[in-house]
Formats: sequence, structure tokens, C-alpha cells
Amino acid sequence: MKSAKIPGPNEPLTISETENPKPSGTQVLLKVKSEGVCHSDLHLWEGGYDLGDGQFLKVTDRGVKYPVTPGHEIVGTIEEIGENVSNVTVGDDVLVFPWMGCGECPACKVGNENLCDAPKSMGLFQNGGYADYVLVPNSKYLAKLDGVDPDAATSLACSGLTAYTAIKKANQNSPEFIVIVGAGGLGLMGVQIASEITNAKIICVDLDDAKLATAKEMGAHFTVNSKDSETVQKIMSICNDKGADSVVDFVNAPPTVKTGLAVLRKRGNLVLVGLFGGSLELSLVTIPLKSITIQGAYTGNYNDMVELLGLARKGTINPVISKRYSLDEANSALQDLKDRKILGRAVINP
Ligand code: NAD
Ligand code: ZN
Repeated sequence: MKSAKIPGPNEPLTISETENPKPSGTQVLLKVKSEGVCHSDLHLWEGGYDLGDGQFLKVTDRGVKYPVTPGHEIVGTIEEIGENVSNVTVGDDVLVFPWMGCGECPACKVGNENLCDAPKSMGLFQNGGYADYVLVPNSKYLAKLDGVDPDAATSLACSGLTAYTAIKKANQNSPEFIVIVGAGGLGLMGVQIASEITNAKIICVDLDDAKLATAKEMGAHFTVNSKDSETVQKIMSICNDKGADSVVDFVNAPPTVKTGLAVLRKRGNLVLVGLFGGSLELSLVTIPLKSITIQGAYTGNYNDMVELLGLARKGTINPVISKRYSLDEANSALQDLKDRKILGRAVINP
């Protein structure tokens, strides 16, 4: 098999050939059809996350070991199965649930493996899908595509799933207005999902007019370019000067969170999703006085991924796939995403 590995932080990916692994027990060998290129792969490439104030959270301190094959948005065809696999058969096209947990902690026990205390996520803590074959440790993490386009399905394992979890959290206070910050891979999914599962008016915020135009096509009722110094006033006036009920921030950096807090109405709900990072000083008294909620959202669980595949099968959500790369072009794929050249999602077709 051929795989693209990150040798270490900020080093170019290297392509290497090794023997195909042989699945045993519950394991499954997939021939990768399509692999989504996610901004989180960039954080892995850069070695970590910006914590603000000059601090950096290294992925190696979270348990990542280089060299590692990135890629957690994996769609493939089943090539070979272990002797204990019965829920899928050779030839099935499947989407992998990559947010695997230990199976024993309180989160795993209630089916939220994505929030596991000792995560084993693919493309992060174990090798992922920037490869032509990938070994999945247990067939219970697979979901059949049953008609969903393979390229589009990739993003349902991460960007779509995360957006789904986040929008569900934003929809808990019967919102009249939801602000979605960031119209990238996650944000555009967020716009489509919010149009489908909420009754709110959607206001999308980004720095890039082309991305905002796409957000409008996907269902955003209003768009605001945050390069504009009047961004807060513009959002407030759209929300009848009361403010937004929920803000979902798919960037989550100091300027976007400041804007989010400034436009949040009383009883509002701020859902932080992006990992751009940084830090912020909070005016503490306004939090109880306005009784606002600030919460995080991290990926999603297996059942939500299956629900999302159902929405895609019905055609109610259509992930935007704007660019396709070969495995040999893995470095360009990541660099183009870093340079903000990708609209929606790019995929690697090995
Ligand atoms: P992306 O690069 O496709 O999109 C980011 C978007 O944000 C772009 O459209 C960009 O123009 C916009 N943007 C950047 N800075 C901005 C600013 N200051 N104001 C307004 N808009 C701004 O990235 P993505 O794949 O959508 O991922 C977004 C973030 O979410 C990344 O940090 C990624 O690692 C993270 N992520 C989080 C989870 C989770 O579970 N919490 C899961 C997947 C990805
Ligand atoms: Zn991702």
C-alpha cells in the first residue's frame, strides 16, 4: 500500500510503499476511494494549536506520535474482512467513523466516543486515510453509503458531523437568529444543516466575499464580511437590535469570539467549534447578567453520523467539493487549504 505521512511538524509529507495489512478479528481493510482534506490536518501538520499569549498546545502532548498518516474523513470500498466481521461485506462502499474511543470511559459508555478520555481517533492517534488502503480496527465504526456520493460523504465524518453537533447545540433555545462565523468546510455545512433543522434566520460571517456568496446559495439569509469595521452594528441591525439567539463560531479566534459576544442577546448561546485559537479577556459580570451560555462542540458521535448520511441520501444536504487531488499531490492539497484557496472541501482520490 501507498501512504502519505507527516514525518514531523512542518515537514513535507513523504509518500512510501509498504505491504498491505491483513485484517483479522473485527478488523476491515478498505481500499480508499476518497479522503477529505480538513483544516484539522493542517493543525496536525503544524504540530498543534495556538493557545494564545505565545502558548502552543503540541499534538505530541495530546498523544500524537510522528510519523503519522493524516486523514480522518475516509470513504472506501471493503477489500477484505476479519473472521469476526458480519455487518458489512466485501465490495460495500462505507464511511468510517474516525473518532474512536477506549470503549470504557463514561463518554464511550453512553455512545459519545468522540469525547473519550483516551481517544484513538484515526488520522491523529492512529494512521488515517491519506493512503490507498487503510486498516479499520473494528467494523462497528463503518456506515454504508447506500447511494451517497463518495466524495461528498467524506465530509460527513468530520466537518458535517461537527457542524451537525454544533447546530443542534445552537438550536436549543428556539433561535430566531443564528450567526454562523466562518464559511469554510465546516461553516458551509453548518449553513445547510441550520436551514434544514432549525427555523432560524441565518447570518453568515466570513472575510471572503466568494465564500459568503456560496453561503447564500446554501441557505444563509444574510451575509456580513467581517473586514467591515461596522460588522457588529450590521449584525445587530439584522437582529432588530436585540442580538442573535445563538452564535456558532467555526473559526474561534479572538476577533471572531469578540464579535460573537458583542452580538449575543440576553439568554444567548455561544458555541465554539473552530481551533484557530488564541485567548481573550472576558468581562465576567455580563455573563450572569445576560445569562448567556458559552460551550464547546467537538466532532460528533456515530449515531449522528448515520443520521447525517440519511440527510445526504435525501439530498437535503450537499457538501461542496470543489477540488480533487491525487495522493502524490497531498502536500499541495494541504498547502492550498492553508493558503485559503479551497472553497468548501477538497478531497484526495488515491
Ligand atoms: P476552512 O479553512 O475550510 O475554513 C475557515 C473559514 O474561516 C474560511 O472561510 C476563512 O475565510 C474563515 N475565516 C478565517 N479567519 C476568519 C476571521 N477572522 N473572521 C471571519 N472568518 C474567518 O476550515 P474548516 O475545515 O472549516 O475548519 C474550521 C476550524 O474548525 C479549524 O480550526 C478546524 O481545525 C476546526 N475543526 C474543529 C472541529 C471540532 O470538532 N471542534 C472539527 C473539525 C475542524
Ligand atoms: Zn476534520
